[in-house]
Amino acid sequence: MAESNDRTVKPKKSTKARPGATAAATPTEAAEPAAPAKPVTRAKAPKPATRAKTAASDSATPATVAASANAAKPAKSAKPESRLAMVRRARRINRELAEVYSYAHPELDFRNPFELLIATVLSAQTTDLRVNQTTPGLFAAYPTAEDLAAADPEKVEELIRPTGFFRAKTKSIIGLSAALRDNFGGQVPGRLDDLVTLPGVGRKTAFVVLGNAFGVPGITVDTHFMRLVRRWKLTEQDDPVKIEAEIAEIFPKSEWTMLSHRVIFHGRRICHARKPACGACPITHLCPAYGEGETDPEKAKKLLKYEMGGFPGQRLNPPADYPGRPAPPLDAS
Ligand code: SF4
Repeated sequence: MAESNDRTVKPKKSTKARPGATAAATPTEAAEPAAPAKPVTRAKAPKPATRAKTAASDSATPATVAASANAAKPAKSAKPESRLAMVRRARRINRELAEVYSYAHPELDFRNPFELLIATVLSAQTTDLRVNQTTPGLFAAYPTAEDLAAADPEKVEELIRPTGFFRAKTKSIIGLSAALRDNFGGQVPGRLDDLVTLPGVGRKTAFVVLGNAFGVPGITVDTHFMRLVRRWKLTEQDDPVKIEAEIAEIFPKSEWTMLSHRVIFHGRRICHARKPACGACPITHLCPAYGEGETDPEKAKKLLKYEMGGFPGQRLNPPADYPGRPAPPLDAS
């Protein structure tokens, strides 16, 4: 992973680490280059009147604070954006998302690195909600790597069936538990090089564990992260490892973990894959892809998800400052 900006950009102040997200979360104001920003090249320029309406109509959601402050700014003329301007814009996106999602956190329930590692492996091809509804039963039966390594695969398959692909996932989590038992004394290692030796553990899973259970900064390039940084024109890459490297050049290392949470929160709640809720988005003024989704404020508001739309979140046990409702257990959903 590239770490080149870490030495040259010094964050001004620290942000309190979030439960389950132990990497430092630090605003980037002081890290910004000093040259004046150039206007972002927009795919579609919204009319100022539309933007003002966006802010006014979004008053019931946590996005309102940023939206009302930023929504009325008119788009400026299209002009190729310099690298410096792009970096300034990217860091501003991060700062504004930090205000909107001050409560951003990993959306998997876990109590220790082992639970986070297993939950992250189970989250492939399903929602964090489904994993969170499934893991309490699994961890009650097999609380440690030694327990899971020695488990009857058929019993594990039954317990994790709701997450889908349960046979392959059973093989993975029993296999990686055996590797933890045999090679790491039953403990989850806190180094990338060790984590990726575990069966079924790639860089994405490793960074989730490192960032949230060990406080080691990491960028999590999942489907939401990829989509959003490409929409924002922070990268044109489509390979996760290359995206990770380019994004690492833009942001200070201290921001990597919380940046990942904020971007993923935004992707899950507002900037959806198929129909982004542009009309209810608090960062329209920074987004070249404004207009790719629904721009009518009232219609966009109906697209909001989780706490932004007044619905439960994904965690059964969210952090205390989560403004939404906890997810229901499996038998209640
Ligand atoms: S919702 Fe629309 S305006 Fe907001 S970040 Fe996504 S594409 Fe850009």
